[in-house]
Amino acid sequence: MKTEHTDVVIAGGGLTGYTLAILLARGGVSSIVVEESATLGGAPVVPCDPRALSITPGTQRVLDSIDVWQLLPPEKVGRFDKIHIWDGTGGEEVQFDCSEICSPVLGYIVEQSVLQAALARQAKGRAGIELLMNNTVIGFTEDADSIVCKLADGRIIKSSLLVGADGINSRIRDLAGIAQERIDYHQKAVACIIETQLPHKNIARQRFLKDGPVAFLPLPDANRCGVVWSNGRDTADDLLALDDQTFCEQLETAFEARLGKVLGCESRAVFNLQRSRVLNYFNGHCVLVGDAAHTVHPMAGQGANMGLTDAAVLSELILHARSTGRDIASRQLLRKYERWRKTENNKMTLILEVLKNIYEDNSPSVSLLRGNGMMLLNRTTVIKNKIMKYAMGITGDVPAIVSSSLFEEFSNAG
Ligand SMILES: Cc1cc2nc3c(=O)[nH]c(=O)nc-3n(C[C@H](O)[C@H](O)[C@H](O)COP(=O)(O)OP(=O)(O)OC[C@H]3O[C@@H](n4cnc5c(N)ncnc54)[C@H](O)[C@@H]3O)c2cc1C
Repeated sequence: MKTEHTDVVIAGGGLTGYTLAILLARGGVSSIVVEESATLGGAPVVPCDPRALSITPGTQRVLDSIDVWQLLPPEKVGRFDKIHIWDGTGGEEVQFDCSEICSPVLGYIVEQSVLQAALARQAKGRAGIELLMNNTVIGFTEDADSIVCKLADGRIIKSSLLVGADGINSRIRDLAGIAQERIDYHQKAVACIIETQLPHKNIARQRFLKDGPVAFLPLPDANRCGVVWSNGRDTADDLLALDDQTFCEQLETAFEARLGKVLGCESRAVFNLQRSRVLNYFNGHCVLVGDAAHTVHPMAGQGANMGLTDAAVLSELILHARSTGRDIASRQLLRKYERWRKTENNKMTLILEVLKNIYEDNSPSVSLLRGNGMMLLNRTTVIKNKIMKYAMGITGDVPAIVSSSLFEEFSNAG
């Protein structure tokens, strides 16, 4: 079979893979996206995917820069201006408010399937991107300057770089011999969309319970929320099996009826929860992005945000190399990407791990410490503001797309 040529092969047409392909195409770097599923939006992890994703303003800027944000129907984009967090033992509630940092918003809520479809639409038919559905990379060979991929349908593609954007069970990671560390939380999250008696008022709410947090994420409709309810595996399976009415009653109790009655719920699904990370982000001409490189607990809604930031950073380095006539897959470039993203992703993973441990430990000493800590945090504006900005993806070592739009906002405001 004739060998095809492209700059970059991207295995996996999920949120991260498509974002990377579009970012690269905008800078004149071509790619072929190889997606295992037969559908354009990528394979749902479960037959019906009711996940509502929290999207940070940092990620929103990345999606805006590739004209994907504009493709999301306004009636499908929720927003939150405040976050309320409290725990199951009746400790103090911590409240975050965007007005405290003079920001119009803390974040957005978009259903995963809606975002996935918008990315697929933007990638489809775009010059510089070829989409190969129902196909996988089954092997590759490398030399000093290139990598040659063999696909399941027999195609041969030569490129400078192979990107594994193929999720937590990445085959590219295995083929590249990159080791992964995985911690099983022995938890599953039940995700669904619900209708509540009281309006959410654009507040994202989360209650921490011994077996995991339950979050109500405000959707555009004032009385609809996306729910992510983490629990022990057996309990989560039992919750999935309940009839709608009993499930709504149990959810209402777990959430202390903060939004009144849970009036109804749409399609429920469960997701296994694992923390994972790779020790190296690349090997030879193979590099990993998104869930293929790291997964975190969904309690802070950061997984996809981390993946899209990987894509933004990798594309920034590749496009800079291309514009200065340098190799787009040099060891030096990939090492820089690895250092940059590993540091930021490990930092976020560590913070989430500490939070998870603090909230799930109900020993009297930790409960006391947690209560006092929450009280103190609520009164310490400087720290709270730092946490808000960090969680919004607008501080730290952010890619140029994010920092330049911040600069523009600042200039316009001033
Ligand atoms: C319950 C829950 C709630 C969450 N909430 C949030 C949130 O609020 N905010 C947030 O930022 N994140 C959240 N996340 C995390 C987020 O969903 C993931 O981080 C994100 O979907 C990862 O995207 P990805 O493109 O890297 O991987 P994936 O979504 O796994 O996409 C991988 C793609 O690769 C394809 N593929 C797989 N294997 C192959 C192969 N061998 N060859 C070719 N293609 C292949 C798959 O079909 C798929 O299309 C949540 C996760 C869960 C479980």
